[in-house]
Amino acid sequence: MPSAQPKIALVTGAARGIGLAAAKKFLAEGWRVALLDIEGELLARAVADIGRSDDTLALSCDVSDSTAVGAAMTAVAQRFGRLDALVNNAGIAVFAPLMETSEADWRRVLEVNLTGPFLCTRAAVPLMRDGDGGAIVNITSISAVRASTLRSAYGTSKAGLAHLTKQLAVELASLNIRVNAVAPGPVDTAMAKQVHTKEIRADYHDAIPLNRYGLEEELAEAIFFLCSDRSSYITGQILAVDGGFDAAGIGLP
Ligand code: NAD
Repeated sequence: MPSAQPKIALVTGAARGIGLAAAKKFLAEGWRVALLDIEGELLARAVADIGRSDDTLALSCDVSDSTAVGAAMTAVAQRFGRLDALVNNAGIAVFAPLMETSEADWRRVLEVNLTGPFLCTRAAVPLMRDGDGGAIVNITSISAVRASTLRSAYGTSKAGLAHLTKQLAVELASLNIRVNAVAPGPVDTAMAKQVHTKEIRADYHDAIPLNRYGLEEELAEAIFFLCSDRSSYITGQILAVDGGFDAAGIGLP
Protein backbone atom coordinates (compact mmCIF):
# COMPACT_ATOMS: atom_id res chain seq x y z
CA MET A 1 0.00 0.00 0.00
CA PRO A 2 1.44 3.47 -0.83
CA SER A 3 2.29 5.51 2.27
CA ALA A 4 0.05 8.50 3.11
CA GLN A 5 1.11 11.94 1.89
CA PRO A 6 3.19 13.80 4.49
CA LYS A 7 1.33 16.46 6.41
CA ILE A 8 2.37 20.11 6.21
CA ALA A 9 2.83 22.54 9.11
CA LEU A 10 3.58 26.26 9.06
CA VAL A 11 5.32 27.54 12.20
CA THR A 12 5.79 31.30 12.69
CA GLY A 13 8.70 32.63 14.71
CA ALA A 14 10.59 29.46 13.83
CA ALA A 15 14.16 30.78 13.57
CA ARG A 16 14.88 29.97 17.23
CA GLY A 17 13.35 29.14 20.59
CA ILE A 18 10.00 27.41 20.98
CA GLY A 19 9.13 27.82 17.29
CA LEU A 20 12.32 26.12 16.10
CA ALA A 21 11.82 23.28 18.59
CA ALA A 22 8.24 22.85 17.32
CA ALA A 23 9.42 22.78 13.68
CA LYS A 24 11.97 20.06 14.56
CA LYS A 25 9.27 18.06 16.34
CA PHE A 26 7.02 18.12 13.26
CA LEU A 27 9.94 16.97 11.09
CA ALA A 28 10.78 14.17 13.53
CA GLU A 29 7.16 13.01 13.28
CA GLY A 30 7.34 12.80 9.46
CA TRP A 31 5.70 16.12 8.61
CA ARG A 32 7.03 18.77 6.21
CA VAL A 33 7.43 22.25 7.63
CA ALA A 34 7.35 25.85 6.43
CA LEU A 35 9.41 27.88 8.89
CA LEU A 36 8.55 31.59 8.93
CA ASP A 37 10.41 34.38 10.72
CA ILE A 38 11.12 38.11 10.46
CA GLU A 39 14.85 37.42 10.98
CA GLY A 40 15.67 36.11 7.51
CA GLU A 41 19.37 35.36 8.07
CA LEU A 42 18.84 33.66 11.42
CA LEU A 43 16.10 31.59 9.80
CA ALA A 44 18.28 30.64 6.82
CA ARG A 45 20.99 29.41 9.24
CA ALA A 46 18.48 27.43 11.31
CA VAL A 47 17.02 25.77 8.22
CA ALA A 48 20.51 24.99 6.86
CA ASP A 49 21.41 23.41 10.23
CA ILE A 50 18.31 21.21 10.05
CA GLY A 51 19.61 20.07 6.66
CA ARG A 52 16.34 18.63 5.31
CA SER A 53 15.87 20.80 2.22
CA ASP A 54 13.24 18.46 0.69
CA ASP A 55 11.06 18.75 3.77
CA THR A 56 11.45 22.41 4.71
CA LEU A 57 10.61 25.84 3.31
CA ALA A 58 12.09 29.05 4.79
CA LEU A 59 9.86 32.13 4.66
CA SER A 60 11.27 35.53 5.61
CA CYS A 61 8.16 37.46 6.69
CA ASP A 62 6.77 39.85 9.29
CA VAL A 63 3.52 38.36 10.63
CA SER A 64 2.07 41.84 11.13
CA ASP A 65 2.38 42.67 7.40
CA SER A 66 -0.71 41.33 5.62
CA THR A 67 0.83 41.54 2.14
CA ALA A 68 3.91 39.60 3.24
CA VAL A 69 1.75 37.03 5.02
CA GLY A 70 -0.33 36.55 1.87
CA ALA A 71 2.82 36.03 -0.20
CA ALA A 72 4.15 33.53 2.35
CA MET A 73 0.93 31.52 2.20
CA THR A 74 1.08 31.51 -1.61
CA ALA A 75 4.63 30.13 -1.35
CA VAL A 76 3.39 27.34 0.96
CA ALA A 77 0.60 26.49 -1.49
CA GLN A 78 3.00 26.42 -4.45
CA ARG A 79 5.61 24.31 -2.68
CA PHE A 80 3.47 21.88 -0.69
CA GLY A 81 -0.05 22.22 -2.16
CA ARG A 82 -1.73 21.89 1.24
CA LEU A 83 -1.60 23.00 4.86
CA ASP A 84 -2.58 20.83 7.82
CA ALA A 85 -1.37 22.86 10.78
CA LEU A 86 -0.57 26.48 11.60
CA VAL A 87 1.37 27.37 14.75
CA ASN A 88 1.05 31.08 15.56
CA ASN A 89 4.18 31.28 17.69
CA ALA A 90 5.94 34.52 16.60
CA GLY A 91 5.88 37.00 19.45
CA ILE A 92 7.71 39.83 21.14
CA ALA A 93 7.83 40.88 24.79
CA VAL A 94 8.04 44.30 26.39
CA PHE A 95 8.09 44.10 30.18
CA ALA A 96 7.62 47.60 31.63
CA PRO A 97 5.35 49.45 34.04
CA LEU A 98 2.49 51.35 32.41
CA MET A 99 4.17 54.76 32.65
CA GLU A 100 7.27 53.41 30.91
CA THR A 101 5.35 51.68 28.13
CA SER A 102 5.53 53.87 25.03
CA GLU A 103 2.64 54.05 22.59
CA ALA A 104 4.95 52.60 19.92
CA ASP A 105 5.79 49.60 22.14
CA TRP A 106 2.12 49.04 23.00
CA ARG A 107 1.12 49.13 19.32
CA ARG A 108 3.97 46.87 18.19
CA VAL A 109 3.29 44.22 20.86
CA LEU A 110 -0.39 44.14 19.88
CA GLU A 111 0.45 44.07 16.16
CA VAL A 112 2.89 41.16 16.38
CA ASN A 113 1.26 39.09 19.15
CA LEU A 114 -2.41 39.56 18.25
CA THR A 115 -2.82 41.02 14.74
CA GLY A 116 -0.10 38.64 13.47
CA PRO A 117 -2.04 35.47 14.40
CA PHE A 118 -5.24 37.03 12.99
CA LEU A 119 -3.54 37.72 9.64
CA CYS A 120 -1.80 34.34 9.45
CA THR A 121 -4.98 32.46 10.37
CA ARG A 122 -7.07 34.38 7.84
CA ALA A 123 -4.52 33.59 5.14
CA ALA A 124 -4.21 29.91 6.16
CA VAL A 125 -7.91 29.01 6.36
CA PRO A 126 -8.53 28.82 2.57
CA LEU A 127 -5.66 26.33 2.20
CA MET A 128 -7.02 24.18 5.05
CA ARG A 129 -10.61 24.52 3.84
CA ASP A 130 -9.66 23.26 0.38
CA GLY A 131 -8.06 20.17 1.99
CA ASP A 132 -9.26 18.01 4.88
CA GLY A 133 -9.41 20.82 7.43
CA GLY A 134 -6.59 21.23 9.92
CA ALA A 135 -5.40 22.44 13.30
CA ILE A 136 -4.26 25.84 14.53
CA VAL A 137 -2.28 26.32 17.74
CA ASN A 138 -1.77 29.81 19.13
CA ILE A 139 1.07 30.36 21.58
CA THR A 140 -0.32 32.55 24.34
CA SER A 141 1.32 32.79 27.76
CA ILE A 142 0.57 32.26 31.38
CA SER A 143 0.71 36.11 31.39
CA ALA A 144 -2.68 35.99 29.62
CA VAL A 145 -4.33 34.85 32.83
CA ARG A 146 -1.97 36.07 35.59
CA ALA A 147 -1.60 39.82 36.07
CA SER A 148 1.60 41.53 37.19
CA THR A 149 3.16 44.98 37.45
CA LEU A 150 5.16 44.77 34.19
CA ARG A 151 3.09 43.16 31.48
CA SER A 152 0.21 45.47 30.54
CA ALA A 153 0.99 45.27 26.81
CA TYR A 154 2.33 41.71 26.66
CA GLY A 155 -0.28 40.15 28.96
CA THR A 156 -3.12 41.98 27.20
CA SER A 157 -1.93 40.85 23.77
CA LYS A 158 -1.83 37.23 24.95
CA ALA A 159 -5.24 37.47 26.66
CA GLY A 160 -6.62 38.74 23.35
CA LEU A 161 -5.04 35.80 21.56
CA ALA A 162 -6.54 33.39 24.10
CA HIS A 163 -9.99 34.79 23.36
CA LEU A 164 -9.37 34.70 19.59
CA THR A 165 -8.55 31.01 20.05
CA LYS A 166 -12.00 30.27 21.48
CA GLN A 167 -13.74 32.56 19.02
CA LEU A 168 -12.16 30.82 16.02
CA ALA A 169 -12.60 27.32 17.47
CA VAL A 170 -16.34 27.91 17.35
CA GLU A 171 -16.35 29.64 13.97
CA LEU A 172 -14.04 27.26 12.11
CA ALA A 173 -15.37 23.95 13.50
CA SER A 174 -17.72 23.58 10.51
CA LEU A 175 -14.62 23.55 8.25
CA ASN A 176 -13.07 20.78 10.38
CA ILE A 177 -10.43 23.21 11.62
CA ARG A 178 -9.60 22.86 15.31
CA VAL A 179 -8.14 25.87 17.15
CA ASN A 180 -6.33 25.54 20.48
CA ALA A 181 -3.66 27.40 22.42
CA VAL A 182 -0.59 26.47 24.38
CA ALA A 183 0.18 28.82 27.28
CA PRO A 184 3.84 28.46 28.25
CA GLY A 185 5.22 29.33 31.64
CA PRO A 186 8.81 30.62 31.56
CA VAL A 187 11.15 28.99 29.04
CA ASP A 188 14.78 30.10 28.88
CA THR A 189 14.81 31.34 25.27
CA ALA A 190 16.32 34.52 23.81
CA MET A 191 13.08 36.30 24.73
CA ALA A 192 13.34 35.25 28.39
CA LYS A 193 17.00 36.26 28.47
CA GLN A 194 15.92 39.71 27.28
CA VAL A 195 13.09 40.38 29.76
CA HIS A 196 13.61 38.11 32.79
CA THR A 197 15.73 39.92 35.37
CA LYS A 198 17.49 38.06 38.18
CA GLU A 199 14.58 38.97 40.46
CA ILE A 200 11.97 37.63 38.02
CA ARG A 201 13.94 34.39 37.65
CA ALA A 202 14.12 33.90 41.43
CA ASP A 203 10.41 34.60 41.83
CA TYR A 204 9.52 32.17 39.05
CA HIS A 205 11.66 29.48 40.62
CA ASP A 206 9.83 29.78 43.93
CA ALA A 207 6.34 30.22 42.41
CA ILE A 208 6.51 27.24 40.05
CA PRO A 209 5.70 23.96 41.83
CA LEU A 210 8.21 22.08 39.62
CA ASN A 211 10.81 24.77 40.57
CA ARG A 212 12.30 25.18 37.11
CA TYR A 213 11.84 26.78 33.71
CA GLY A 214 10.26 24.70 30.95
CA LEU A 215 12.28 23.35 28.04
CA GLU A 216 11.59 24.32 24.43
CA GLU A 217 11.14 20.62 23.64
CA GLU A 218 8.47 20.28 26.35
CA LEU A 219 6.48 23.03 24.67
CA ALA A 220 7.01 21.42 21.26
CA GLU A 221 5.45 18.16 22.52
CA ALA A 222 2.25 19.95 23.56
CA ILE A 223 2.12 21.96 20.32
CA PHE A 224 2.52 18.83 18.22
CA PHE A 225 -0.10 16.94 20.21
CA LEU A 226 -2.68 19.67 19.60
CA CYS A 227 -1.88 19.64 15.85
CA SER A 228 -1.98 15.86 15.52
CA ASP A 229 -4.98 13.57 15.11
CA ARG A 230 -4.40 12.39 18.67
CA SER A 231 -6.27 15.51 19.78
CA SER A 232 -9.03 15.14 17.17
CA TYR A 233 -11.88 15.97 19.61
CA ILE A 234 -10.10 18.88 21.35
CA THR A 235 -10.86 22.42 20.19
CA GLY A 236 -11.17 25.80 21.89
CA GLN A 237 -8.83 24.83 24.74
CA ILE A 238 -5.87 26.59 26.29
CA LEU A 239 -3.30 24.16 27.61
CA ALA A 240 -0.96 25.59 30.24
CA VAL A 241 2.51 24.04 30.00
CA ASP A 242 3.95 25.77 33.03
CA GLY A 243 5.19 23.39 35.73
CA GLY A 244 2.02 24.04 37.76
CA PHE A 245 2.55 27.81 37.96
CA ASP A 246 -1.03 28.75 37.10
CA ALA A 247 -2.47 26.10 39.39
CA ALA A 248 -0.43 27.39 42.34
CA GLY A 249 -1.85 30.90 41.97
CA ILE A 250 1.01 32.87 43.53
CA GLY A 251 1.51 36.50 42.39
CA LEU A 252 4.34 37.79 40.20
CA PRO A 253 6.47 40.86 40.75
P1 NAD B 1 12.17 33.96 20.85
O1 NAD B 1 12.37 35.43 20.91
O2 NAD B 1 13.30 33.05 21.09
O3 NAD B 1 11.50 33.54 19.45
C1 NAD B 1 10.51 34.33 18.85
C2 NAD B 1 10.73 34.29 17.35
O4 NAD B 1 9.69 35.10 16.75
C3 NAD B 1 12.07 34.91 16.94
O5 NAD B 1 12.75 34.06 16.04
C4 NAD B 1 11.68 36.23 16.28
O6 NAD B 1 12.57 36.66 15.25
C5 NAD B 1 10.29 35.88 15.74
N1 NAD B 1 9.49 37.08 15.49
C6 NAD B 1 9.37 38.18 16.28
N2 NAD B 1 8.59 39.09 15.70
C7 NAD B 1 8.19 38.56 14.51
C8 NAD B 1 7.37 39.02 13.46
N3 NAD B 1 6.81 40.25 13.50
N4 NAD B 1 7.16 38.22 12.39
C9 NAD B 1 7.75 36.98 12.32
N5 NAD B 1 8.55 36.51 13.28
C10 NAD B 1 8.76 37.27 14.37
O7 NAD B 1 10.98 33.70 21.89
P2 NAD B 1 10.30 32.35 22.44
O8 NAD B 1 10.45 32.39 23.91
O9 NAD B 1 10.68 31.16 21.67
O10 NAD B 1 8.77 32.75 22.16
C11 NAD B 1 7.91 32.01 21.31
C12 NAD B 1 6.47 32.33 21.74
O11 NAD B 1 6.27 31.84 23.08
C13 NAD B 1 6.14 33.83 21.78
O12 NAD B 1 4.85 34.04 21.27
C14 NAD B 1 6.21 34.15 23.25
O13 NAD B 1 5.41 35.26 23.58
C15 NAD B 1 5.68 32.86 23.86
N6 NAD B 1 6.06 32.68 25.27
C16 NAD B 1 7.37 32.57 25.64
C17 NAD B 1 7.68 32.41 26.98
C18 NAD B 1 9.10 32.30 27.48
O14 NAD B 1 9.32 32.35 28.70
N7 NAD B 1 10.08 32.14 26.61
C19 NAD B 1 6.65 32.35 27.95
C20 NAD B 1 5.33 32.47 27.53
C21 NAD B 1 5.04 32.62 26.18
